[in-house]
Amino acid sequence: MSSAQQVRPGRFITLEGIDGAGKSTHLTFIADWLKRHDVDAVFTREPGGTPLGEQIRELLLAPATVASLDAETLLAFAARQQHIADVIAPALAAGRWLVSDRFTDSTYAFQGGGRGVPYERIRALEDWVQRGLQPDLTLLFDLPTEVAAGRMAGTRVPDRFEQEAADFHRRVRAAYLRRAEEASQRIVVLDAGRSIDDIQADIAVHLGKLLERG
Ligand code: ADP
Repeated sequence: MSSAQQVRPGRFITLEGIDGAGKSTHLTFIADWLKRHDVDAVFTREPGGTPLGEQIRELLLAPATVASLDAETLLAFAARQQHIADVIAPALAAGRWLVSDRFTDSTYAFQGGGRGVPYERIRALEDWVQRGLQPDLTLLFDLPTEVAAGRMAGTRVPDRFEQEAADFHRRVRAAYLRRAEEASQRIVVLDAGRSIDDIQADIAVHLGKLLERG
Protein backbone atom coordinates (compact mmCIF):
# COMPACT_ATOMS: atom_id res chain seq x y z
CA MET A 1 0.00 0.00 0.00
CA SER A 2 1.40 3.43 -0.93
CA SER A 3 1.68 6.25 1.60
CA ALA A 4 -1.11 8.12 -0.24
CA GLN A 5 -3.46 5.21 0.47
CA GLN A 6 -2.53 5.09 4.13
CA VAL A 7 -3.24 8.75 4.86
CA ARG A 8 -6.39 9.21 2.75
CA PRO A 9 -9.68 7.35 2.96
CA GLY A 10 -11.36 6.41 -0.32
CA ARG A 11 -13.61 8.81 -2.17
CA PHE A 12 -16.41 8.04 -4.60
CA ILE A 13 -16.85 10.45 -7.53
CA THR A 14 -19.45 10.11 -10.26
CA LEU A 15 -19.79 11.94 -13.57
CA GLU A 16 -23.25 12.58 -14.96
CA GLY A 17 -24.95 14.41 -17.78
CA ILE A 18 -26.83 13.99 -21.02
CA ASP A 19 -24.91 12.35 -23.86
CA GLY A 20 -22.53 14.80 -25.49
CA ALA A 21 -22.18 17.01 -22.38
CA GLY A 22 -18.45 16.27 -22.08
CA LYS A 23 -17.97 13.47 -19.55
CA SER A 24 -15.38 11.63 -21.63
CA THR A 25 -13.53 14.85 -22.38
CA HIS A 26 -13.16 15.71 -18.69
CA LEU A 27 -12.37 12.18 -17.54
CA THR A 28 -8.82 12.50 -18.88
CA PHE A 29 -8.36 15.79 -17.03
CA ILE A 30 -9.64 14.23 -13.79
CA ALA A 31 -7.25 11.28 -14.19
CA ASP A 32 -4.30 13.66 -14.71
CA TRP A 33 -5.33 15.86 -11.78
CA LEU A 34 -5.57 12.90 -9.40
CA LYS A 35 -2.21 11.54 -10.57
CA ARG A 36 -0.55 14.94 -10.01
CA HIS A 37 -1.97 14.98 -6.50
CA ASP A 38 -0.70 11.49 -5.77
CA VAL A 39 -4.18 10.01 -5.46
CA ASP A 40 -4.54 6.32 -6.23
CA ALA A 41 -7.74 6.09 -8.28
CA VAL A 42 -9.82 3.48 -10.08
CA PHE A 43 -11.76 4.49 -13.19
CA THR A 44 -14.90 2.66 -14.11
CA ARG A 45 -18.27 3.14 -15.79
CA GLU A 46 -21.94 2.27 -15.75
CA PRO A 47 -23.62 0.35 -17.02
CA GLY A 48 -20.55 -1.86 -16.90
CA GLY A 49 -17.45 -2.08 -14.77
CA THR A 50 -17.51 -5.88 -14.43
CA PRO A 51 -17.72 -8.71 -17.00
CA LEU A 52 -21.44 -9.18 -16.24
CA GLY A 53 -22.00 -5.42 -16.21
CA GLU A 54 -20.35 -4.98 -19.60
CA GLN A 55 -22.60 -7.70 -21.05
CA ILE A 56 -25.62 -5.91 -19.61
CA ARG A 57 -24.27 -2.64 -21.03
CA GLU A 58 -24.21 -4.15 -24.51
CA LEU A 59 -27.83 -5.24 -24.13
CA LEU A 60 -28.97 -1.88 -22.79
CA LEU A 61 -27.21 0.20 -25.43
CA ALA A 62 -27.85 -1.99 -28.49
CA PRO A 63 -30.47 -0.28 -30.68
CA ALA A 64 -32.01 -3.70 -31.47
CA THR A 65 -32.80 -4.46 -27.83
CA VAL A 66 -36.48 -4.43 -26.89
CA ALA A 67 -37.02 -4.09 -23.13
CA SER A 68 -39.92 -3.01 -20.95
CA LEU A 69 -39.32 0.01 -18.73
CA ASP A 70 -39.08 -2.16 -15.63
CA ALA A 71 -36.79 -4.69 -17.31
CA GLU A 72 -34.48 -1.88 -18.39
CA THR A 73 -34.43 -0.45 -14.88
CA LEU A 74 -33.83 -3.85 -13.27
CA LEU A 75 -30.99 -4.59 -15.70
CA ALA A 76 -29.33 -1.29 -14.79
CA PHE A 77 -29.51 -2.19 -11.11
CA ALA A 78 -28.37 -5.78 -11.69
CA ALA A 79 -25.24 -4.41 -13.33
CA ARG A 80 -24.88 -1.88 -10.50
CA GLN A 81 -25.11 -4.51 -7.77
CA GLN A 82 -22.30 -6.53 -9.34
CA HIS A 83 -20.29 -3.34 -9.85
CA ILE A 84 -20.63 -2.29 -6.22
CA ALA A 85 -19.82 -5.77 -4.89
CA ASP A 86 -16.83 -6.47 -7.11
CA VAL A 87 -15.32 -3.05 -7.80
CA ILE A 88 -16.70 -0.04 -5.93
CA ALA A 89 -16.94 -1.33 -2.36
CA PRO A 90 -13.54 -3.09 -2.41
CA ALA A 91 -11.80 -0.01 -3.86
CA LEU A 92 -13.31 2.34 -1.28
CA ALA A 93 -12.56 -0.11 1.53
CA ALA A 94 -8.93 -0.18 0.40
CA GLY A 95 -8.75 3.62 0.63
CA ARG A 96 -8.67 4.15 -3.12
CA TRP A 97 -10.62 6.84 -4.94
CA LEU A 98 -13.09 5.63 -7.51
CA VAL A 99 -14.41 7.64 -10.45
CA SER A 100 -17.44 6.24 -12.23
CA ASP A 101 -18.67 7.52 -15.57
CA ARG A 102 -22.39 7.42 -14.62
CA PHE A 103 -24.11 5.89 -11.58
CA THR A 104 -27.62 5.94 -10.08
CA ASP A 105 -28.42 9.55 -11.02
CA SER A 106 -28.36 8.26 -14.61
CA THR A 107 -31.17 5.81 -13.77
CA TYR A 108 -33.26 8.62 -12.26
CA ALA A 109 -32.54 10.76 -15.32
CA PHE A 110 -32.87 8.24 -18.18
CA GLN A 111 -35.33 5.65 -16.88
CA GLY A 112 -37.12 8.04 -14.47
CA GLY A 113 -37.16 11.33 -16.37
CA GLY A 114 -36.68 10.00 -19.89
CA ARG A 115 -38.89 6.91 -19.81
CA GLY A 116 -41.28 7.75 -16.99
CA VAL A 117 -40.43 4.99 -14.49
CA PRO A 118 -41.81 6.17 -11.11
CA TYR A 119 -39.08 7.54 -8.87
CA GLU A 120 -40.33 5.44 -5.93
CA ARG A 121 -39.45 2.27 -7.84
CA ILE A 122 -35.97 3.52 -8.59
CA ARG A 123 -35.56 4.59 -4.98
CA ALA A 124 -36.60 1.12 -3.74
CA LEU A 125 -33.97 -0.51 -5.94
CA GLU A 126 -31.39 2.09 -4.91
CA ASP A 127 -32.03 1.28 -1.22
CA TRP A 128 -31.85 -2.44 -1.87
CA VAL A 129 -28.69 -2.43 -3.96
CA GLN A 130 -26.72 0.47 -2.43
CA ARG A 131 -27.63 0.13 1.26
CA GLY A 132 -26.83 3.76 1.86
CA LEU A 133 -23.78 3.93 -0.40
CA GLN A 134 -23.73 7.32 -2.18
CA PRO A 135 -21.05 9.18 -4.09
CA ASP A 136 -19.06 11.79 -2.15
CA LEU A 137 -19.13 14.08 -5.18
CA THR A 138 -21.14 14.06 -8.39
CA LEU A 139 -20.13 16.34 -11.24
CA LEU A 140 -23.19 17.01 -13.38
CA PHE A 141 -22.24 18.41 -16.78
CA ASP A 142 -25.24 20.45 -17.81
CA LEU A 143 -25.87 21.57 -21.34
CA PRO A 144 -28.89 22.42 -23.51
CA THR A 145 -29.82 19.31 -25.45
CA GLU A 146 -29.48 21.03 -28.83
CA VAL A 147 -25.89 22.03 -28.05
CA ALA A 148 -25.03 18.49 -26.96
CA ALA A 149 -26.61 17.06 -30.12
CA GLY A 150 -24.62 19.50 -32.24
CA ARG A 151 -21.37 18.49 -30.54
CA MET A 152 -22.05 14.80 -31.10
CA ALA A 153 -23.27 15.09 -34.68
CA GLY A 154 -21.21 12.90 -36.95
CA THR A 155 -18.76 11.87 -34.22
CA ARG A 156 -20.33 8.56 -33.14
CA VAL A 157 -22.90 5.95 -34.05
CA PRO A 158 -25.88 6.73 -31.77
CA ASP A 159 -26.65 4.04 -29.17
CA ARG A 160 -30.15 3.04 -28.00
CA PHE A 161 -30.45 6.14 -25.78
CA GLU A 162 -28.62 8.61 -28.02
CA GLN A 163 -31.03 7.82 -30.86
CA GLU A 164 -34.04 8.86 -28.79
CA ALA A 165 -36.02 11.96 -29.83
CA ALA A 166 -35.06 15.46 -28.66
CA ASP A 167 -37.92 15.48 -26.14
CA PHE A 168 -36.49 12.42 -24.38
CA HIS A 169 -33.17 14.21 -23.88
CA ARG A 170 -34.93 17.33 -22.60
CA ARG A 171 -36.72 15.20 -19.98
CA VAL A 172 -33.41 13.55 -19.04
CA ARG A 173 -31.78 16.94 -18.56
CA ALA A 174 -34.70 18.22 -16.47
CA ALA A 175 -34.57 15.10 -14.28
CA TYR A 176 -30.85 15.60 -13.71
CA LEU A 177 -31.44 19.19 -12.60
CA ARG A 178 -34.18 17.98 -10.24
CA ARG A 179 -31.73 15.43 -8.79
CA ALA A 180 -29.22 18.21 -8.27
CA GLU A 181 -31.78 20.13 -6.20
CA GLU A 182 -32.69 17.04 -4.19
CA ALA A 183 -29.08 16.11 -3.44
CA SER A 184 -27.42 19.52 -3.50
CA GLN A 185 -24.86 18.49 -0.84
CA ARG A 186 -23.16 16.10 -3.28
CA ILE A 187 -24.20 17.08 -6.82
CA VAL A 188 -22.35 20.01 -8.38
CA VAL A 189 -23.91 21.40 -11.56
CA LEU A 190 -21.25 22.55 -14.02
CA ASP A 191 -22.24 24.72 -16.96
CA ALA A 192 -20.84 22.58 -19.76
CA GLY A 193 -21.53 25.22 -22.38
CA ARG A 194 -18.32 27.03 -21.46
CA SER A 195 -14.81 26.42 -22.75
CA ILE A 196 -13.10 23.19 -21.72
CA ASP A 197 -10.50 25.21 -19.75
CA ASP A 198 -13.15 27.06 -17.75
CA ILE A 199 -15.00 23.86 -16.92
CA GLN A 200 -11.78 22.11 -15.89
CA ALA A 201 -10.81 25.01 -13.62
CA ASP A 202 -14.10 24.39 -11.77
CA ILE A 203 -13.51 20.64 -11.67
CA ALA A 204 -10.10 21.24 -10.09
CA VAL A 205 -11.68 23.37 -7.36
CA HIS A 206 -14.16 20.63 -6.47
CA LEU A 207 -11.54 17.89 -6.53
CA GLY A 208 -9.35 20.08 -4.32
CA LYS A 209 -12.14 20.48 -1.79
CA LEU A 210 -12.69 16.73 -1.72
CA LEU A 211 -9.00 16.12 -1.19
CA GLU A 212 -8.88 18.61 1.69
CA ARG A 213 -11.81 16.97 3.43
CA GLY A 214 -9.24 14.51 4.76
P1 ADP B 1 -19.94 12.65 -23.35
O1 ADP B 1 -18.84 11.74 -22.92
O2 ADP B 1 -20.57 13.37 -22.18
O3 ADP B 1 -20.98 12.02 -24.23
P2 ADP B 1 -17.88 13.93 -24.93
O4 ADP B 1 -16.80 14.21 -23.93
O5 ADP B 1 -17.70 12.77 -25.84
O6 ADP B 1 -19.30 13.84 -24.20
O7 ADP B 1 -18.08 15.27 -25.76
C1 ADP B 1 -18.89 15.32 -26.94
C2 ADP B 1 -18.20 16.17 -28.00
O8 ADP B 1 -18.15 17.53 -27.58
C3 ADP B 1 -16.77 15.75 -28.27
O9 ADP B 1 -16.52 15.87 -29.65
C4 ADP B 1 -15.94 16.76 -27.48
O10 ADP B 1 -14.69 17.00 -28.07
C5 ADP B 1 -16.82 18.00 -27.55
N1 ADP B 1 -16.72 18.86 -26.34
C6 ADP B 1 -16.69 18.46 -25.06
N2 ADP B 1 -16.65 19.51 -24.23
C7 ADP B 1 -16.67 20.64 -24.99
C8 ADP B 1 -16.64 22.05 -24.71
N3 ADP B 1 -16.62 22.53 -23.46
N4 ADP B 1 -16.68 22.89 -25.75
C9 ADP B 1 -16.73 22.42 -27.03
N5 ADP B 1 -16.74 21.10 -27.36
C10 ADP B 1 -16.72 20.21 -26.36
